[in-house]
Amino acid sequence: MERGLPPHITAGRLDRALGAFAGVVGKDWVLTSNEDRETYLDVYALGTGEEHLPSAAVAPASAQEVQAVVRLANEHGIPLWPISRGKNFGYGGSAPRTLGAVVLDLGRMKRILEVNERFGYCLVEPGVGFFDLYDHLQANNIPLWLSVPGNAWGSVTGNALERGFGSSPYGDHASKICGLEVVLPTGELVRTGMGAMSNNPTWPLFRYGYGPSWDGLFQQSNLGIVTKMGLWLMPEPEATLGLSIELQNADDIGWALDELCPLRMSGVLQQSPNIGNYLRSAAGRSQRSDWYTGPGAMPDSVIQDIQKTYGVGWWSIGLRLYGPEEVNEVNARIIQAAFARHTDQPFKITRWRKAEPIAASGAGIPSVFPLQIVNWQGGRGGHIGFSPVLPPSGEAALDQLHRAQKIVREHGFDFYGSFTAGERHINHVNMIFYNRDDDGMVGRVREVLKVLISETAAAGYGEYRAHLDVMDDVAASFDFNDHALRRLNETLKDALDPNGILAPGKQGVWPKAYRGSQA
Ligand code: ADP
Repeated sequence: MERGLPPHITAGRLDRALGAFAGVVGKDWVLTSNEDRETYLDVYALGTGEEHLPSAAVAPASAQEVQAVVRLANEHGIPLWPISRGKNFGYGGSAPRTLGAVVLDLGRMKRILEVNERFGYCLVEPGVGFFDLYDHLQANNIPLWLSVPGNAWGSVTGNALERGFGSSPYGDHASKICGLEVVLPTGELVRTGMGAMSNNPTWPLFRYGYGPSWDGLFQQSNLGIVTKMGLWLMPEPEATLGLSIELQNADDIGWALDELCPLRMSGVLQQSPNIGNYLRSAAGRSQRSDWYTGPGAMPDSVIQDIQKTYGVGWWSIGLRLYGPEEVNEVNARIIQAAFARHTDQPFKITRWRKAEPIAASGAGIPSVFPLQIVNWQGGRGGHIGFSPVLPPSGEAALDQLHRAQKIVREHGFDFYGSFTAGERHINHVNMIFYNRDDDGMVGRVREVLKVLISETAAAGYGEYRAHLDVMDDVAASFDFNDHALRRLNETLKDALDPNGILAPGKQGVWPKAYRGSQA
């Protein structure tokens, strides 16, 4: 693929900037070959992904090097796209929003600076992966548990900043961030919260600091580059109790969520339940062609075949209670009684106690097994996420389920849906699986996404996160008071990043120079 250039930047100017970056990080850490560039493409791109091809990558080893690179980027007018480990699969991976941006790869900054067992937190650099942190906790017998996303190949920092989630009681990862160190778009280094006071030990302990709180401003944002992050970790519980049940009909999810959401809100259930449909079970273990080779979405008879073969319902629900054993037993009875109002089917129960092997505990153990699902369609597989946020009600969930399923099937795709109940909301993650090299299919993915976004917005709901290709569409759906939020974002962007060098277009927020001609 030919090297793309950032808007208004000549090849000579880019090369001078890359030479200057090499003066900071060493020439081995400025990556400019075709192979290097292609390494940073979105591995699940719709088609070639060349519209998101970076012109190069630069990999600093410290916050000071990040500052120096950012200052040079301002001098030379070169856009940077920071990534931690670049495994943001389904949302764009390591690729930049704009053609020709230089990827700022923070993967070399992977020190675990502190794990505090007594106070339950860690302080990490952005390149620290879930596997790194898990191995560290295990090797040092530290009784703190991680919360991990389904695919845990990425970084602890990147995932929390993007507001990824897992199903442990600490599963709302962004909510466990406590204190950031950030390089601003001008190159200045700041620490947020109590970290703004030199040597204050409560940096990773008290989230708000003094005056306005800034941690939220650096999430899903292009206002800063996070070089250190404090994150709370969960103390290992005395025991866990797992409850799983298969629900046979699509619409059973309505009553199930109406029972689960109040229990989640009252704290009987402290984690976000893991609820996925039959396609999650099937795509993890087989390919579509094993079941169906006809046109269009799989018919209901094939779905029933899948359910029977794997012994799964339309929905598989997994819940887990964490805490003192006796408390878990009481809470389990409350949940069982709630479900008994609707079904005779019992929960399958598993129990784990401290000191038993961790595998069966429900601790956050990183895995990449769920990536298997991208092979569903065959060929070079990919998936893209569509994830609207709903109120915590069965009625709202059913309404969105019916809408999304109809749209997805009408476009010829099999429906993958899952629900996660947060404290006051439901997140409905949908995934579309495709073969990247099937142009017709790729075209249909683009179309189905646009329809899902606009029809869901018409129903009053928005997404919590979005792929590079639809960041603008989702941003546009947040329209209150003639897009007042966009104007606020732009005001901040212009103030903090006057030269518009940091992640132009991320989450639909464009620097001044790009507005109106979005690359
Ligand atoms: P992961 O490897 O954890 O899955 P990525 O490194 O792909 O995550 O990051 C996902 C997105 O989050 C990036 O595209 C970028 O917009 C943002 N991001 C990641 N790390 C940082 C960081 N350290 N500072 C600012 N933004 C970041």
